[in-house]
Amino acid sequence: MKKYNFNAGPSMLPREVIEATAAACLDFEGSGLSLMEISHRAKNFQPVVDKAVELVKELLDLPAGYSVVFLAGGASTEFCRVPYNFLEKKAAYLNTGTWAKKAMKEAKLFGEVVEVASSAEDNYTYIPKNFTVPADADYLHITTNNTIFGTEMRYDLDSPVPLIADMSSDIFSRPVDVSKYNCIYAGAQKNVSMAGVNIVIVKDEALNKVSRQIPTMLDYMTHVKNGSMFNTPPVVPIYCAMKNLEWVKQNGGVEAMDKRAKERADMLYTEIERNKLFRGTAKAEDRSYMNICFVMNDEYKELEADFLQFATERGMVGIKGHRSVGGFRASCYNAQTIEGVQALIQSMKDFEAQH
Ligand code: PLP
Repeated sequence: MKKYNFNAGPSMLPREVIEATAAACLDFEGSGLSLMEISHRAKNFQPVVDKAVELVKELLDLPAGYSVVFLAGGASTEFCRVPYNFLEKKAAYLNTGTWAKKAMKEAKLFGEVVEVASSAEDNYTYIPKNFTVPADADYLHITTNNTIFGTEMRYDLDSPVPLIADMSSDIFSRPVDVSKYNCIYAGAQKNVSMAGVNIVIVKDEALNKVSRQIPTMLDYMTHVKNGSMFNTPPVVPIYCAMKNLEWVKQNGGVEAMDKRAKERADMLYTEIERNKLFRGTAKAEDRSYMNICFVMNDEYKELEADFLQFATERGMVGIKGHRSVGGFRASCYNAQTIEGVQALIQSMKDFEAQH
């Protein structure tokens, strides 16, 4: 039976990207060695990193004065690398969910953290809009897509202080005005690659400004200066990212990804609203295109496990909602197909017809 992958991350990747990465793992460019076996300093690997950096710059139309590095440690490591590098005295954080809170927790190790606004009281169903950022904050940190709660800022905020964004679950799904940010970071395992690499985009002039000493591996400057080659980088995930970014480019770039994301999300939200069994959990104006969260309406609550089984038997994978929200979550990153979304919608309709 055909499977439709709605996992929140690691998540679906284009088939051709998986095949190209698998082929390189068997024989890297006819060398007779696996991509896993070559030196990261091999002559034929440097072009992979160069190409990946070039694609990030091209796809997000990076202005001059920004660097792109590939680092290990997951986005969770950036939660601490960011304040290490940028927090001198005070930082502002917008609390839009679990990941924002985790980022905030790390920042508290380095200085004063001001939570400028939070939607915690409503289980993070919306993005707070009216808040004041202290003028003396070193930066404002936002999470553009809240993977768990299904809310998203599909716009670039005007911030009175330097903006830093965790874009782990929506990078490359829309055009971004990078000039508004001092730093953008993302773990790769949703929209970019397999797990194991982070993309960090950093404004060069924002580096080397804090007075503290930064351990070598946690200092962004180390990696900028060494072109992501200070130590052994995650070679296979970087290769996979390069192939996936090529796929994004070949398929129309981030403008086309944005259009497709809207199309998929519109289809699914329309069905959630129409279907008597379900309701969406996020406020309509802040609904994510990437993670579409929905629950059973109260009068059908007892059917939750039945629907999960029903959809699973029809090939849906990974639609069980995160425990903080319950119900269902259909993750629709760049590789998600209209066909997959249609299959899920058909399951919802068929299940409704039985009840
Ligand atoms: N930030 C966001 C928005 C996420 O969705 C996740 C993981 O799902 C993380 C950070 C943490 O990423 P990692 O597991 O790579 O540390």
